[in-house]
Amino acid sequence: MSQTKTHVSDLPDQLLETVKLTQEPHKKGRLLTGDRPTGRLHLGHYVGTLKNRVKLQDEYECFFLIADYHMLTTGFDKLPEIKTNIREIVLDYLSVGISPERSTIVLQSLVPQTAVLQLVFSMLVTVPRLQRVPTLKEVMKDLHIRQPSMGLLGYPVLQAADILIVRGEVVPVGKDQASHLEVTREIARRFNEQFAPVFPEPDTIIGEVGTLPGTDGQTKMSKSLGNAIFLADDPETVTKKVMSMYTDPKRIHPTDPGTVEGNPVFTYHDAFNPNKDEVEDLKRRYRAGRVGDIEVKRRLAEALNAFLDPIRTRRTVAQLAGDADEILLEGSKRARSLAEETLHMVRTAMKMDHFPASVFH
Ligand code: ATP
Ligand code: MG
Repeated sequence: MSQTKTHVSDLPDQLLETVKLTQEPHKKGRLLTGDRPTGRLHLGHYVGTLKNRVKLQDEYECFFLIADYHMLTTGFDKLPEIKTNIREIVLDYLSVGISPERSTIVLQSLVPQTAVLQLVFSMLVTVPRLQRVPTLKEVMKDLHIRQPSMGLLGYPVLQAADILIVRGEVVPVGKDQASHLEVTREIARRFNEQFAPVFPEPDTIIGEVGTLPGTDGQTKMSKSLGNAIFLADDPETVTKKVMSMYTDPKRIHPTDPGTVEGNPVFTYHDAFNPNKDEVEDLKRRYRAGRVGDIEVKRRLAEALNAFLDPIRTRRTVAQLAGDADEILLEGSKRARSLAEETLHMVRTAMKMDHFPASVFH
């Protein structure tokens, strides 16, 4: 936790009156993370974030945000699928064990207060600062964008608003992404210094997670690379994908000694096969040229389907109950009430409270 974190008790009296203590006392703080609704979630997401989120929901007061406005920053081509993707992601969340009783699932566009906060925040950060954000250059290069739109340039400002509209204190990120949150922290600090200490300066918690390779052996499983096994894939699809997986390219016959390290079939065995004895036995025999790729893959398909079965069941139950929309609406409503509180604090701090908050209702 950061030393500079703002506590509610640091707020001036007139602001204190406006703050309802909504945090759950037994939890360590309020956490926010999310996904852009670009498609279904896959095993890479499970390894990289979902598994961790399921654990974090007991420790922190978690907000999981489906960031549909963030889709607009890089083009409009995915908009026709966005409605389906939003529901599929909610089902993905529920299927892995994210629980709407313990966590809040939010749709970004159902919290319009975020856009107001983004407007205020955009006055607190310079254009050159945003131009220096490393991911902007990466995205522009990957998508062949010559000049960023104001929205793309302002992506980190919208992200800051997403986090701070619910006064999030913790953001889980991968090892290489810790710098993403720096803009949020700078904006929070700037606001607090300029006006009044309204915002926490969110901390990152860095997950000790690896990157799951794709079924084609590329370093990262990614939906746009077509090398993903999705959480919602049925058993036949999973088996088919596994049987055509990339393995050790130098191995022609089952009697050739094979390489286990960096071989995605074994990376998946390590990640998803709970029978460690079986995995060790397969590795030994693979190295010695005493087992064929087909058997190693067949065992992997079985292990993966056993891992995915309860996930599929939970998905079906949620689908049949038609829960997704209600969960999103409920979660977003809760976020909106926090967001209204935050905007009230912001207006008061900035002396822009020309009218009482009740005029907004
Ligand atoms: P796209 O192909 O559209 O880039 P994607 O499948 O790569 O999509 P992202 O939306 O880029 O998925 O990933 C979101 C987050 O999920 C990442 O920041 C990372 O934390 C996690 N993640 C995605 N793929 C993997 C993976 N293969 N291994 C570990 N973590 C992953
Ligand atoms: Mg990606």
